[in-house]
Amino acid sequence: MTQPYETVIGLEIHAQLTTNTKIFCGCSTEFGKTPNSQTCPVCLGLPGALPVLNRQVVEFAIKTGLATNCQIAPRSIFARKNYFYPDLPKGYQISQFELPVCEHGWQDIELEGGESKRIGITRIHMEEDAGKLIHGDTPEALGTSLVDLNRACTPLLEIVSEPDMRSADEAISYLKKIHQIVVYLGVCNGNLEEGSFRCDANVSVRPYGQAELGTRAELKNINSFRFIKEAIEHEVERQIDLIESGGKVVQETRLFDSNTGMTRSMRGKEEAHDYRYFPDPDLVPLVIDDSWIDAVRSSLPELPDAKRKRFIEKLGLPEYDAEVLASDRLLANYFDACVTHAKEAKACANWIMGEVLRKLKETDTLIGEVPISPVMLAELLDRIADNTISGKIGKTVFEKMWQTGRGADELIESEGLKQVTDTGAIETLVDEVIAANPDQVAEYLGGKDKLIGFFVGKVMQASQGKANPGMVNQLLIKRLKGN
Ligand code: ADP
Ligand code: MG
Ligand code: ZN
Repeated sequence: MTQPYETVIGLEIHAQLTTNTKIFCGCSTEFGKTPNSQTCPVCLGLPGALPVLNRQVVEFAIKTGLATNCQIAPRSIFARKNYFYPDLPKGYQISQFELPVCEHGWQDIELEGGESKRIGITRIHMEEDAGKLIHGDTPEALGTSLVDLNRACTPLLEIVSEPDMRSADEAISYLKKIHQIVVYLGVCNGNLEEGSFRCDANVSVRPYGQAELGTRAELKNINSFRFIKEAIEHEVERQIDLIESGGKVVQETRLFDSNTGMTRSMRGKEEAHDYRYFPDPDLVPLVIDDSWIDAVRSSLPELPDAKRKRFIEKLGLPEYDAEVLASDRLLANYFDACVTHAKEAKACANWIMGEVLRKLKETDTLIGEVPISPVMLAELLDRIADNTISGKIGKTVFEKMWQTGRGADELIESEGLKQVTDTGAIETLVDEVIAANPDQVAEYLGGKDKLIGFFVGKVMQASQGKANPGMVNQLLIKRLKGN
């Protein structure tokens, strides 16, 4: 059956910023401290306390805006978003509404088959987070809730996309791009599980060819890329089933339940808040001049897409390698440093994606803590390239380097791992192997060419892996044929 409905998705992403202090006061943003220990009259919402904007938050907003091709507003306004909830002592959240700090951006994503697609970014604005409610779950505490305001007033960026995505895969691809960018920029730690990077997905369907958008549901409470994909796919199915059976999608907020993979209604449009936004009289308009924007622009690191492109075009890496290596800033830096010291970029890529990543995983180590520096890895690769050791011995050396922190040259020397390229020495081994295996020799000479592998293996073994395999091969053929 062909799918007669088109999926439409727009994402609202909340990225918690990595500033040391909160957005409107000097309290620490450190996670996991004693409840309410990191509060002051401002973030407790005490009457008369006045907010003072954290300059670093603005800088992070500009960074993120520039990295996503937004226009930075020369003048933007903080607004009060009014609602009641026990984790919001002021009775309003300071956010931005009519004049956000960034607008009209975009981010390209790659589709299957190599094509790319541009996703519009409507706006990025700054806002404060609310506190946290801790609901009693012991028998005595059941029915009671405690308020922790340590998180109140921590800075967030909300990044709102246009409804430009047409499948859960496109949504995930876009989300991962934004995630990669904020982590690259160092403005957000990107932790989905802890809620430092969260996403609300707005989902609707419409018959193909219809210009008007369908009614959307907003999915909240999803804390992993996999769950977001599941939630969207489930929601699309639900909406199509509903329409097919004669029903109508209603605009509502739905909560995702990771246990069932389903979404359920949280509140409908009728219960939706009227936030009564108005400019916050406690905060002056935020003015950002060109010299500030230029200064931030010049501090931007090379972004993942640009890196990927450079790895392909300048270093000749295949698409896949470039993607993997550019995905993480520290990994990319490691690769770049290795390339500047080694002869071949592709060899660096192979070893980093193979041995280094495997070892990191196996030993639960972060790329920033690798005991083999890029220069050391480059040295090892050069010894393989100049035939001092074979690739196979290279892996043994790599392992020892990881364990001891010693350099390749030093280890090759002290462990006697140098490749044997002396014809005489290899010939001796070749002759021994030929003499010890007369049956196989007869078979080989009878036409069983494949047996050459057997002989090579034997000679390599006899040399403890140190003989140059190419030479072994050549000499074997010569001696066997000459027999
Ligand atoms: P709100 O803040 O009330 O959720 P917004 O207008 O800010 O409303 O929209 C939020 C998100 O919903 C945006 O990412 C937008 O692209 C997306 N969106 C709006 N309409 C639709 C729709 N019909 N289908 C899917 N996404 C939509
Ligand atoms: Mg919304
Ligand atoms: Zn405070």
